Amino acid sequence: MKVSSYHSSNKSDPDVYHDHDNCRTGQQIPSYNKLSGTGGFPRCKQCIDKG
Ligand SMILES: [Zn+2]
Repeated sequence: MKVSSYHSSNKSDPDVYHDHDNCRTGQQIPSYNKLSGTGGFPRCKQCIDKG
């Protein structure tokens, strides 16, 4: 399902933002590292593929 943009505050995570809650990469971000917004990053490729 499409959600508002979010990204990880963890520097070791890929520098991308997500906008699907069923993105496998996005799901690996623990809630304490999850920030709303794009963080100025490009969109995650898996999220692009989901539409
Ligand atoms: Zn994603």
